[in-house]
Amino acid sequence: MIIIAGSCSVENEKQIISLAEKLKERKIEYIRASLFKPRTDPKAYQGIGYNGLYLLEMLRDMGMKPVCEVLSIEQAEKVKPYVSMFQVGTRNMYNYELLKFLGTLDKPVLLKRAFSGYVNEWLKSKEYITQMGNENVILCERGIRSFDNITRNVLDIGAIIYLKQNTNNIVIADPSHSMGNSDFIIPASKAAMAAGADGLIVEVHENPKLSKSDNFQTIDLIQFDHLLEEIGWNK
Ligand code: PEP
Ligand code: MN
Repeated sequence: MIIIAGSCSVENEKQIISLAEKLKERKIEYIRASLFKPRTDPKAYQGIGYNGLYLLEMLRDMGMKPVCEVLSIEQAEKVKPYVSMFQVGTRNMYNYELLKFLGTLDKPVLLKRAFSGYVNEWLKSKEYITQMGNENVILCERGIRSFDNITRNVLDIGAIIYLKQNTNNIVIADPSHSMGNSDFIIPASKAAMAAGADGLIVEVHENPKLSKSDNFQTIDLIQFDHLLEEIGWNK
């Protein structure tokens, strides 16, 4: 089971290192550690940027595996020495030049589904990476756009079932960006796991209210412990 957990974005040294210690206590290795945030509103927090590179290094020194979203080839080149996994966000599933570049590297790529992307387009995007030699791709179902707005997106359970029944892909689910509501994280995670998902990427913060981005959907450590118990982590 793959669990990637951590705050929406890297905020500062105290925040990320303290959180990493708490995750380590729970035997979580992969930590969300994005320095660049592709926000809908250009005035919203855009991430700590390259100033946070040393924090990724600190995380690695602690034995954590930082997962960092990259939006461009330049960012991928610069963060490469410090990350354990690259994340391609929903907005970049069609960024073929970036995908091709990540395909030349020797690190795992977490490829999120575009919020309006067909599963077959998603699989083709994966091929852009693997065709260049990098076979280490994890698919992430993060919710798609639909007509209702009671949840931020719609977690496509059918896509998870389809991929697990018909392909050999590793598939994880993102209950945070699909639901957009911290109260929905545990049942959504359980639904994804029941559908066959190999794990989760989930937003966790020691004090979600203070989170610089996506605070509404972020769970605290008590809820995270609950989640780990419900999905049978480490049992
Ligand atoms: C994220 O995981 O931080 C993120 C921005 O997700 P998405 O690309 O799915 O919106
Ligand atoms: Mn987020």
